[in-house]
Amino acid sequence: MNAQSADPVDIAIVGAGAAGLAAALALGREGRSVALIGPVATPRDGRTVALFDGSWRMLCGLGLEEALSDKAAPLCVMRLVDDSGSLFRQPPVEFRASEIGLAAFGWNVENADLTAILAEKAAALPGLTMIPGFVRAIEPEADGVRLTGDGFAPLKARLVAGADGRNSKVRAAAAIESRDWRYPQVALTAIFAHRRDHGDTSTEFHTRQGPCTLVPLPGRRSSLVWLTDPAEAETIVALDDAAFARRVEDQVQSLLGAMTVSGARGRVPMGGLSVERFGAGRMALIGEAAHIFPPIGAQGLNLGLRDVADLRDALEGAADPGGESVIAAYDRARRVDVRLRTGAVDMLNRTLLTDLVPADLLRGAGLLALSRIGPLRRFVMRQGVGDHTR
Ligand SMILES: Cc1cc2nc3c(=O)[nH]c(=O)nc-3n(C[C@H](O)[C@H](O)[C@H](O)COP(=O)(O)OP(=O)(O)OC[C@H]3O[C@@H](n4cnc5c(N)ncnc54)[C@H](O)[C@@H]3O)c2cc1C
Repeated sequence: MNAQSADPVDIAIVGAGAAGLAAALALGREGRSVALIGPVATPRDGRTVALFDGSWRMLCGLGLEEALSDKAAPLCVMRLVDDSGSLFRQPPVEFRASEIGLAAFGWNVENADLTAILAEKAAALPGLTMIPGFVRAIEPEADGVRLTGDGFAPLKARLVAGADGRNSKVRAAAAIESRDWRYPQVALTAIFAHRRDHGDTSTEFHTRQGPCTLVPLPGRRSSLVWLTDPAEAETIVALDDAAFARRVEDQVQSLLGAMTVSGARGRVPMGGLSVERFGAGRMALIGEAAHIFPPIGAQGLNLGLRDVADLRDALEGAADPGGESVIAAYDRARRVDVRLRTGAVDMLNRTLLTDLVPADLLRGAGLLALSRIGPLRRFVMRQGVGDHTR
């Protein structure tokens, strides 16, 4: 396929983040011509993604297992610690992957490593053209969508997958309404080396400002995602690495012994976004173009990979990849999953941010139920890991 040619491509994916790259790999294998448009960026800012079992198996199915295994650590135990000071505070709750017959709930990998591995695989896929340009204009037409931008000749696609993140141009071109909101929180990210073994355990401390989570990486290293209020975040960001490490060690109750910062640190203002539909007029939205919420329970990219799996399923056997039946099937498939998870994460976050007694009671009762009721625990654990390997 030549992206400079006048022939339309079957599918153009806009945005080469993790969701767009995974979509290019998954959809480019099905014998269709696929163009992936967007620069690949792999900045290191202390961010990692915990990929649950369903996502991991999907990526392994795309041939990434060997490359990813070297860079990822398994998550065998997930521990929740109520550090909110609430009246209804519960003892820590632990979930073990072995309770649902898995070796691990998933694997944690640096964003930059995941993106680089996906991009390397995509570059070698026949039938997939990678265009490192930026899309400037998107014009829907009856038989396709015309894309123009920097660094490439205009091209037409029968289906456009919008993987272009929060300010998605594809979403705007498809006239899909979205709602976005902010939380009074900033996520601080960093990678640490530490003295004690993490034991393949991820620990989430639920504080009044939001969760503070340590997630294992290979060796005696872990990543930090700490949601806190913006004023405190500013003070913490100003600390040098040594003072920052001591502050974090304090915050996590010296769980992993002495800690040292390894590499760059990051900060991300917290917000959410939801869309009124997942596709319209030969365009489908995937990843953060379609849903954003705070990193609680590590759902974001896992949901993005389920978007990819559902789009692949909706395309199966379709004569016209951008036809109305494909868009309608995709929209139906994504509605419940995305809305349920956006709602659940939002509710948990808000029960932490308020000190209202009913909210504390609800959260305390939830944790108690999770620690005591075996079938509920196993149900929640299975929901968490997802399955999109079909
Ligand atoms: C602190 C933090 C921790 C997280 N932890 C987890 C976790 O443990 N597990 C998990 O599953 N998720 C996690 N997430 C969520 C996860 O990181 C995101 O869901 C994921 O990175 C989003 O990927 P994306 O490809 O959809 O969007 P992006 O990474 O935003 O990619 C969008 C891409 O589109 C490109 N683009 C935009 N406009 C155009 C254009 N006009 N033309 C061409 N290209 C364009 C951009 O340059 C960018 O490369 C976390 C998020 C945060 C903030």
